[in-house]
Amino acid sequence: MLKIDLTIFQKGFNYSQDGPGNRLVYHLKGCNMHCPWCSNPEGMCRDTGESTVVSVSEITDEVLSCVPMFFDGGGVTFTGGEATVQFEALEAVLRSLKGHGIDTAIETNGTSPKLSSLFTLLDHLIMDLKHPDEAVHRAVTGVSNSQVKSNITAAVSEGRDVLVRIPLIGGFNTDEAAFEGFLSFFKALPAESFRVELLKYHEYGKDKWKKLCLPYTVKDAFVEESTRRDLEEKLKKAGITTVRT
Ligand code: SF4
Repeated sequence: MLKIDLTIFQKGFNYSQDGPGNRLVYHLKGCNMHCPWCSNPEGMCRDTGESTVVSVSEITDEVLSCVPMFFDGGGVTFTGGEATVQFEALEAVLRSLKGHGIDTAIETNGTSPKLSSLFTLLDHLIMDLKHPDEAVHRAVTGVSNSQVKSNITAAVSEGRDVLVRIPLIGGFNTDEAAFEGFLSFFKALPAESFRVELLKYHEYGKDKWKKLCLPYTVKDAFVEESTRRDLEEKLKKAGITTVRT
């Protein structure tokens, strides 16, 4: 029988950072990656730590009661953790919300092999690409990037509204070789069909790692603003649209 409860660890309104307009953002628990810089480590593990279980109909009712708040093209965004870890429930809630005409978005690490089956239920996709190289990506996040790349390619090729986000982590993905890899991947896509946002490393999650008694291993990863500007210029020169949300 289909389980249609979602396990969430955080929710709240956010303006324009997780999709257009004012959005109600649900953080679903559990992630299949283990990025050492994760700012929500409390959401990585599905089964431990604080969480709330809510049904699809409860979320639908809550969202419908918030419709007046969805100004400037807002709506609902599902993020995590990694929202697709709870795939069946996510699909059910998206289907329910689309049935009510709600604007929907997902922020995803892009690893789900079933992601494309959600495209028609999503108005906006925010998809992370953390490193272009398969071996480096797997070594640091624990997961291959090949499905991520094919999901981005599929979403862009279908003309979906796609924002690709790259977290700039010094010592991991800001060197010339890595950026050439990003550029080469993006150049193979239709440039008019997606946007890229470069997000500078921050340590907002560091204290959370400590509270969870988990070692925070990232060091010297801050990225200069001039580095971000240079990388944005490289993208623009390649005809790729960059944004800052
Ligand atoms: S994919 Fe996102 S939620 Fe998952 S570990 Fe990495 S940063 Fe954290």
